Amino acid sequence: MRRVAAEMRKVGFDEVKVDPFGNVLGRIGSGPRVVAFDAHLDTVDVGDREQWTCDPFGGEVREGCLYGRGAVDQKAGMAAMVYAGQAIRQLNLAPDCQVWMVGSVLEEDCDGLCWHYILDEKVLAPEIVVSTEPTSLRIHRGQRGRMNIMVEVTGRSSHGSMPHLGENAIDKHVGGEEQYCREDRGWREEEANQAEDNSDHAAQRDDPPLICKNFA
Ligand SMILES: [Zn+2]
Repeated sequence: MRRVAAEMRKVGFDEVKVDPFGNVLGRIGSGPRVVAFDAHLDTVDVGDREQWTCDPFGGEVREGCLYGRGAVDQKAGMAAMVYAGQAIRQLNLAPDCQVWMVGSVLEEDCDGLCWHYILDEKVLAPEIVVSTEPTSLRIHRGQRGRMNIMVEVTGRSSHGSMPHLGENAIDKHVGGEEQYCREDRGWREEEANQAEDNSDHAAQRDDPPLICKNFA
């Protein structure tokens, strides 16, 4: 964030600020129309370093390509925005606008929270926001929206060695056996006939079913 702010100042942005959430915002122009571009500055984790063929934080350039964590998602967008801002200013491309280049934070973990803050706290009130998420240099339609839904489902608990005696709440309500019970479907059908007679049957089998091998 400090690096981006310094670069914005270096290339002549009219205003650079950091909001209390941690987003860095740079402005070009002072017209009445408000347009914003966004790139998130955070990245997902590096993961297993053994899988990398370069230093994920090295910024290595090979044959004209930059390698490192976040090079595509989404440092490149941020870098392009800063220098697009410089060009817009120098060439006076948007005389009726104030163009804000926003480096947002916490996108990977809490998608949308950064812009929720910007809009809710009236840090900016843009007419339009252009996301510079990587799209292979093509224009993509954004998401149609997002909903957080709390669903309460009920089941019946049972010991892990005898799941057929309980009711899996997820099975009952989300996708059912098609998604979650492929391995134990046959076993359930077989066991269902015997379970009522002997609840210890599953633990005493000579040839336990797959689900017992995996999870018991
Ligand atoms: Zn991204």
